[in-house]
Amino acid sequence: MVPTKRLYWELPLLEAATATVLAARPGRLVLDATILYPEGGGQLADRGTVSWRADDGETVTSRIEDVQVSEEGVIEHHLIAPQIPALGSAVTLTLDGRRRRVHRAQHSAQHLLSQAFFRRHGQTVSTRLGADRCTIDLLAADGHPLLSEAAISAAEEEVNALVLDDVPVVTRFVAPAELAALGLRKAPTVSENIRIVSVADYDHTPCGGTHVLSTAQVGYVHIAMVERYKGGLRVSFHAGPRIPPLARASNELLSELARPFSTAPDALPARMEKLRQAAKDAEAAKGAAYLAYAELVAFGLPAGDRGAARELRVPSADIALLRAVAAAAANRCGFAIVEGIAGDRGVPLVVHRSGNGNENANTELRERLSGRGGKGGGTAERAEGWIPVVPG
Ligand SMILES: [Zn+2]
Repeated sequence: MVPTKRLYWELPLLEAATATVLAARPGRLVLDATILYPEGGGQLADRGTVSWRADDGETVTSRIEDVQVSEEGVIEHHLIAPQIPALGSAVTLTLDGRRRRVHRAQHSAQHLLSQAFFRRHGQTVSTRLGADRCTIDLLAADGHPLLSEAAISAAEEEVNALVLDDVPVVTRFVAPAELAALGLRKAPTVSENIRIVSVADYDHTPCGGTHVLSTAQVGYVHIAMVERYKGGLRVSFHAGPRIPPLARASNELLSELARPFSTAPDALPARMEKLRQAAKDAEAAKGAAYLAYAELVAFGLPAGDRGAARELRVPSADIALLRAVAAAAANRCGFAIVEGIAGDRGVPLVVHRSGNGNENANTELRERLSGRGGKGGGTAERAEGWIPVVPG
């Protein structure tokens, strides 16, 4: 089958066109020409609709939910409608222009960023233009270090200056002999019909994707994150129409976080730090109170009587308090078994031995848990567990 004519190469703004059916089966449609970009080269497929006149004279319209291309260049439209048009009949295609605009901006932004990184010795090894995130994976050029944070920021600034200057973006097919003069940062993946996307004389890249007609259509480029990745860097970015909703969502999230504190979002870091410190202080105060309580309980026990602390009860479900009491009581009497009251995990139980007694804390705990469905364990010196509460 002959390769499908790609109308979007010449006319990336064309949002409707007619074409002729070359092949059709349920859910799949091949036409002589299309305005829809098939997934490839890191760019997502376009979406749109196709309509045609059925045998009964009614117009059938189907959404196109995917577009794929074969190695021979035959483009297949994936339809959601069960019907298909007759071979040789005419159909009308429409394009989801909003989606295309978003893709063009991300893809052109990627070319610009890759060139800006290239000029700073960062080599683009792969790119992904996803539905909600776009990434460029970089490696350092031979003999150079990985791009610094400052170099990445400078690249972002350089690209945005080109966006504001509204530089023309031209696509054309070139003969292989012309390539050397262009100083490409990456070699073409095809040997004939080489399409070059040029941003003035700033960047020339072999690419079959859909692009802006001038850099102002990119809108703006924002680098959202830089991570270490496979010995290089992964740069996440957003461009154009993707940026306002993300900025809005960030602002809303910040406002929501700041609201309970009745403060402005920019005062949040200081408030958070204060809170963190207060939580730390409260935790330390709780620990001190537990120790004081434990000492008080232990003080009421006969010192050195190894049986005296065998059945201690503490009115708390917090195992940290039980641990403190068990340690203090064992310290005074030599051996302590402390049971709490029911909490989320059940009734806590802590067994503690100090000194050189013959008791085994773990054995004692297991005996008390067995038959009551409890779980836990530890060492001969210290063991703890929980007994489940059976609903009455
Ligand atoms: Zn490209």
